[in-house]
Amino acid sequence: MDHAKSAARFAADEARTHWHDQALYALRGKRDRAAATVPEWEQLRETAARVKEHTLSRLAEFLEEFERNARRNGIQVHWARDGEEHNAIVHGILARHGATRLVKSKSMLTEECHLNPYLEARGIEVVDTDLGERIVQLAHEPPSHIVVPAIHRKREEIGDLFHRTIGTEAGLSDPKVLTEAARQHLRQKFMAAQVGLSGVNFAIAETGGFVVVTNEGNADMGTSLPPVHIACMGVEKVIPRAKDLGVFLRLLARSATGQPVSSYTTHFHGPIRGGELHVVIVDNGRSQSLASEVFRRSLACIRCGACLNTCPVYRRSGGYSYSYLIPGPIGSVLGPQRDPAAHASLPFASSLCGSCSDVCPVKIDLHHELYAFRQVLVQKGLVPLRKRLAMAILGSVLSRPWAYRLAGRLLRWIVPRLPRWLAYGPWNAWGKQRELPPMPKESFRDLVRKEPP
Ligand code: SF4
Repeated sequence: MDHAKSAARFAADEARTHWHDQALYALRGKRDRAAATVPEWEQLRETAARVKEHTLSRLAEFLEEFERNARRNGIQVHWARDGEEHNAIVHGILARHGATRLVKSKSMLTEECHLNPYLEARGIEVVDTDLGERIVQLAHEPPSHIVVPAIHRKREEIGDLFHRTIGTEAGLSDPKVLTEAARQHLRQKFMAAQVGLSGVNFAIAETGGFVVVTNEGNADMGTSLPPVHIACMGVEKVIPRAKDLGVFLRLLARSATGQPVSSYTTHFHGPIRGGELHVVIVDNGRSQSLASEVFRRSLACIRCGACLNTCPVYRRSGGYSYSYLIPGPIGSVLGPQRDPAAHASLPFASSLCGSCSDVCPVKIDLHHELYAFRQVLVQKGLVPLRKRLAMAILGSVLSRPWAYRLAGRLLRWIVPRLPRWLAYGPWNAWGKQRELPPMPKESFRDLVRKEPP
């Protein structure tokens, strides 16, 4: 899947593109205002970046410490090498309890492992309980954003979807009414669930506990009503100490939605009375990223979504134009690490303006990583032939002053004489939406020579 082609399909609907752009930019504005209320914001970012760097430098030790302490708390810890093992572990727990009804709160990791289709194929009803996740699940779509998964859907479309799938009245579009309908629908699912599954925002090595952050309280409902709770986490979710948590929680909510704090920050330190608590720790390619000097920093991500909201390419091309399940700048770094050939167009889906790096609460140098990945793709021969040829010609012209001067002279003469069909042919992607600037009669060099400074 080529990002540019998919983006062109999204951008063909101008009204939607504009509205999507505005909705996400509003989130970016909220983030800016929230960050401005914290005088030590930059210091917090710096501390968060250092804590993550330190954690990643001793990841195995912190994970083992977390496991020891979690077991001491009565938590059952499982290790999964990849998505397949993760899914088999979750299914094994469900099967041991004879469970066929699972409620889930938002977890990008389970999306990454394709847990829903895996369980559904084995007769398990899986219900996503985050409102946005439930909307995309009912629409049989993946999330288009990591924090607001249904941001691409208008309220009228959601009214129509609910009418078709959960039997609400036709023509509803009031968000309050729609939310209430979803609440009633989900309540029945919570009451009937036999097992609850959640993600993990932060796992604390020192205490063996973990924290789940939501705005809807669905993780709390889903993990306190059923007797069995399964929490799934990537290896990168561990942090060393309880006191580090404050740094990340202050950054996370403000960066994600501009709130000073998320509505629910729930700490889990053991199973509920008479119940079971399982933690599944998943690698799924993360060790490979850890081994890379350049790309290991992407493991520091706390999934706030700020880099998506600020990215001019994401805002105007939508989440589905990205071939990897996590879209935007961070997805364009993570996806090619997992499968460079499948996601080769993603590092190019960026203007390299650097806005993503500026807003990232853990200071991942996203635009540098995107740039570095372009070079990896060139070395692997995964860049289209047309682009490789164009770059080879350009490189050769730019490295020879005489060739550069000659090319300039030729182009100044030829371009104004080209028929329009030729100048704006399919090879001129830049000219699809813009007019080429008029060719100057003289080069900058000629002008300076005539009028020395
Ligand atoms: S890369 Fe940074 S800004 Fe983007 S989602 Fe992760 S933490 Fe947030």
